[in-house]
Amino acid sequence: MKHLNKLTLVVFTAALFFLGACSQQGEVTLNDEVSDEALVQIYNLGFSNNGVLRSEGGYIVEGDIFISDERLHEVPSRVLLRVGEEEQYRTSNTVTTNGGRNITIFAPVGGRNGYSAGMIAGLDLAIARYNALNLDITFSRVSSSTGANIVMTRLSKRDESRGVLGSAGFPTNGNPYGEIKMSGVLESSYGLSTAGIATIIGHEMGHCVGFRHTDYFNRAISCGGSASNEGASTVGAIHIPGTPTGANPNTDLSWMLACTDGGDRPFTGNDVIALQWMYQNNF
Ligand SMILES: [Zn+2]
Repeated sequence: MKHLNKLTLVVFTAALFFLGACSQQGEVTLNDEVSDEALVQIYNLGFSNNGVLRSEGGYIVEGDIFISDERLHEVPSRVLLRVGEEEQYRTSNTVTTNGGRNITIFAPVGGRNGYSAGMIAGLDLAIARYNALNLDITFSRVSSSTGANIVMTRLSKRDESRGVLGSAGFPTNGNPYGEIKMSGVLESSYGLSTAGIATIIGHEMGHCVGFRHTDYFNRAISCGGSASNEGASTVGAIHIPGTPTGANPNTDLSWMLACTDGGDRPFTGNDVIALQWMYQNNF
């Protein structure tokens, strides 16, 4: 752990670290795998095209947001939405609840393509944290993938070994995004606690129900490095009323900050305001 004080959800730092650690003569670099055409398409969809990773069936942008090859060719139909540099953002797509909706999540247990008991405990804790807020959405873990609203699957071994921690997408047609690709080695390789794992899985669940990065306007706030704006994208980045100006990771460690140090980030007061505004009292 001593080299990894900036674990990223949002992979860039970790990915570079791993590439730096593992790369030997002639290995491909990340940018070699992404065509210029794809970078233009990603930009046109409204996402940042810095640090794009090629992944199975698509690309990972802005650290942990998955864009499928199919989606890449969609023509943007929405007007770009952006509000100033304030905290807590949602996309223009949210989950329809009609006053109450349970979202089921399946994660395979054990084996090469499943998750360890420690990872499952992290998922269960993430679910419990959402459910404790009495929102219009609740989550429950189910034992079959059939009919599950969200299926959590292992990242490819390649992505896991190059330091990707997780990825997810945003809601469509009133439904949560249906897949979380999650590393299976948060415990075994990074030594994260159950609470640290719950924080990362809870973050990906947050994307699935429509939250963007709290510091989307400047991911350097949580990731370090130089300032970079992820852009409002065609999914929108709409400020949530009642949450304060500016993201301050020293005083308010939001679960939706772009990067994590792998520690525990239970919902902060502002996170709770954001979640309640989105999913309470018939939003
Ligand atoms: Zn994220």
